[in-house]
Amino acid sequence: MRLLIMGPPGVGKGTQAVGIAAHYGIPAISTGDIFRANVKNQTPLGLEVSRIMADGGYVPDEITNAIVADRLVEADAAAGWLLDGYPRTSGQVVALDEALAKSGQTIDAVISLVADTDVLVARLLKRAELEGRADDNADTIRNRMVIYTEATDPLLATYRDRGLLVEVDGIGSIDEVAQRITAALDEKLA
Ligand code: AMP
Repeated sequence: MRLLIMGPPGVGKGTQAVGIAAHYGIPAISTGDIFRANVKNQTPLGLEVSRIMADGGYVPDEITNAIVADRLVEADAAAGWLLDGYPRTSGQVVALDEALAKSGQTIDAVISLVADTDVLVARLLKRAELEGRADDNADTIRNRMVIYTEATDPLLATYRDRGLLVEVDGIGSIDEVAQRITAALDEKLA
């Protein structure tokens, strides 16, 4: 089982990624988590990307692609994986295709968590308030949504054209959404 998961900020993508991966017995591989761990441990990679991440930018494709290609050939990824937060650019889509072609592998499905922007903005505003993050206001949050949509729409279109996209309503309890995802995948992959 080789899966991608995509979804806007605040939709609970990371949580669902972990649950869905556990359900299918495959690792959830989050590029954001890999980068954060490297920053925390002050590795050479971490030192290189910490500034980019702090500024909210994207780590350059050649770095990100190499990290993912290395991760996908680790032993625990042989039976499958769920990629969370990658690919994020069209260059990364091409790099992933090339890495998979080398090992004769293909993507089975791309989960797209869908939610109304106003609901997500309200949710993120509440979270920012609870966590005392004053820099997260409605404008910055909406801006993140716009940036996400602009970056991701072409990728979703690519995977839709390939017949891989599985759109799932991302609003509901963690269990409800998880059940929707597995039901949609079971139907698609049956
Ligand atoms: P995330 O937790 O997925 O939001 O990722 C946190 C940060 O890691 C992002 O803001 C980027 O700086 C970096 N990052 C994660 N995944 C990627 C990716 N696929 N391409 C470029 N940068 C990424």
